[in-house]
Amino acid sequence: MRVKYSGTPRPVRSRGLGSAGWEELEDGVIVAAQPHGAPSWFPCNDRPDNKATYSIALAAPPGYTVAVSGELQGTQRTGNALIWSYEQTVPMATYLATVQIGRYREVEHTGAPVPVRTFAPPALDEAALADSFGHQPQMLTFFAELFGPYPFASYTAVITEDELEIPLESQGLSTFGSNFVDTDWESMRLIAHELSHQWFGNSVTLARWQDIWLHEGFACYCEWLWAEESGVSSVQAEVDKHHALLVGLPQDDLVLAHPGQALMFDDRVYKRGALTVHALRTHVGDEVFFEIVRGWLAEHRSGTVTTEIFLEHVGNEAGEAAAALLAPWLFETALPPCPMPASA
Ligand SMILES: [Zn+2]
Repeated sequence: MRVKYSGTPRPVRSRGLGSAGWEELEDGVIVAAQPHGAPSWFPCNDRPDNKATYSIALAAPPGYTVAVSGELQGTQRTGNALIWSYEQTVPMATYLATVQIGRYREVEHTGAPVPVRTFAPPALDEAALADSFGHQPQMLTFFAELFGPYPFASYTAVITEDELEIPLESQGLSTFGSNFVDTDWESMRLIAHELSHQWFGNSVTLARWQDIWLHEGFACYCEWLWAEESGVSSVQAEVDKHHALLVGLPQDDLVLAHPGQALMFDDRVYKRGALTVHALRTHVGDEVFFEIVRGWLAEHRSGTVTTEIFLEHVGNEAGEAAAALLAPWLFETALPPCPMPASA
């Protein structure tokens, strides 16, 4: 079927979730579509479980770089514009499709099993970029060792000249404001977080938004794994710290496996989600835990999942007791005790 459409892209507004989608910058464009912004620039059945492959061609004036969630096939000059053609051959959820347009220079980072690049504003300090985003190949290699192969053909970080409140993942690409070019932990953890979404969220994607913890809990846990790997902290120290912080916050309005639209991106979903992941790890031990996660990612690669499918997987791999242990974390509001390793 062919759908012919035209229009002027602009953000999609939704009550409760604010605006998302195609957005103009000072000098360029970003698309931050999670969760409802995809229809701002193309007609679609905008559901996360409706994945498809994509061919995307965009015309832009010379001097601008067009980055799309896919692999660049080539550029072609036509009149006063350059047409950028991209292919996304791995099935992609609508909200993970993105376009980024700006006056960028491309920085290639070596040392990862797939091409890793950053598109950055030309004036951005090279050393600052190397000290922060330059760590992406090590992060990618580390996550691939833990979780299995990186699921896409390449990884691109786009850094907009504009400051952005939060970074955002798309398929094979993440977007950051220039305010995240920093070696402090707040920036480094988010660089690791967005990259880890390529496994948790972009390759293995929720079928319903209520299961957002399957994305954000694991991505937050990946921050803690990188904290330990890079010598900043240890996973257990992060677990202890964030459990203690959660203890001080209200619990009775939040069910992790069904937070509702208003609390979908509440920070407690991220932290309680990561603690849930750690509760599983401490229960089954490191070896079984990483087997469970690798199996999960391999079996559902390019697919869509739910919390129930995850619990079934855990039950099959580690027994019903392991799945039952997660129920209070996922379906009850009271915060379970801080997960500790069996030897502690
Ligand atoms: Zn995230």
